[in-house]
Amino acid sequence: MQFITELSLSRGRVELPIFLPVATRGFVKAVPMQKINEMGIKVLISNSVHLTISPGLETLEKTNGINGYTGFKGSYFTDSGGFQILREELVKIEKDGILFKDRKSGKSVKVTPEISSEIQSKIRSDVAMMLDDCPPYGEDKKRYSESVLRTYEWGKKFSAFKEPGQKRFGIIQGGFDADLRRESADLMTSLEFDGFALGGLKIGEPKELTDLVLTKTLPLIPKEFPVYLMGVGDPISILEYSEAGIGVFDSTYPTRNARHGFALTGDGPVNLKNAKHSYDHGPIELGCSCETCTYYSKTKLRELHKNEDPSFQYLVTVHNLDFMQRFMHLIGNDHEKAKSVAKKYNKIINSETNIGKVG
Ligand SMILES: [Zn+2]
Repeated sequence: MQFITELSLSRGRVELPIFLPVATRGFVKAVPMQKINEMGIKVLISNSVHLTISPGLETLEKTNGINGYTGFKGSYFTDSGGFQILREELVKIEKDGILFKDRKSGKSVKVTPEISSEIQSKIRSDVAMMLDDCPPYGEDKKRYSESVLRTYEWGKKFSAFKEPGQKRFGIIQGGFDADLRRESADLMTSLEFDGFALGGLKIGEPKELTDLVLTKTLPLIPKEFPVYLMGVGDPISILEYSEAGIGVFDSTYPTRNARHGFALTGDGPVNLKNAKHSYDHGPIELGCSCETCTYYSKTKLRELHKNEDPSFQYLVTVHNLDFMQRFMHLIGNDHEKAKSVAKKYNKIINSETNIGKVG
């Protein structure tokens, strides 16, 4: 099978498969933007609803879009917030859109496909994701069927708008039913989109169901389009699903784990909080040339963590993002080596955050 191997964005071409670090409000947590630029990170994913709440569209318009606001030199994907249905309690789905309520500020934002399109135009991201209806795992067929039709109706409205220089991706829903996925894929690929995401996967379902949906849905998407698997970023899933044809991944996996003290290495995850590192004067990963591995031993990092030094989160996040870049490079250039690295993450295939158990 021939998959597309690059994606052309307004700020340059990127090779596929690519992993997008999460920058919910434009910034990657704990790492200043100049470092993200220095590291050569080419694409980030932000959330358009969160950006609308803070800093707000007025600020983003004044700075000529999100890149002007954050100083990032690469490209942004922006999510429409549909996935938030799974994460936030304060979300209400209505026929014409989704009502979000921000817990911190108490502000409510009603997002319809038209509003989502307008918001993402003003943010000036390179890739805008359509607003979709993404039901949680465990719903009945009727609910998934409803989400297929609603997502299609919203997709029609969303794809009717075009923003120069911005690509727009459709989202395929359909739960865990092969027929519904087929229906959604047929409907969505009939609309004018530049790429497609498989939504509503890896949300708590057994791996067999994820695999079933992927094997049934991927062949229905014409090969010239990039396919994005949202919310997936552990090495073993990236390896497996990139082999199946997925070109774009995103996840808080490297950044969230870093903030909790878990470093990613070619030999598997390392729990830096573990007392066994008290007298380990080596770096997190031998051969890694990141800033953290150049200047800090595991002993020093453990001390920083013990003393609640804020630089700990920065240092481990920098290393983990460096690891993800090296891992994605291996997938494209030394597949056997990538396989052997991914195997070290075998035990954590269905989990995003509990890698500490094996560290
Ligand atoms: Zn490193």
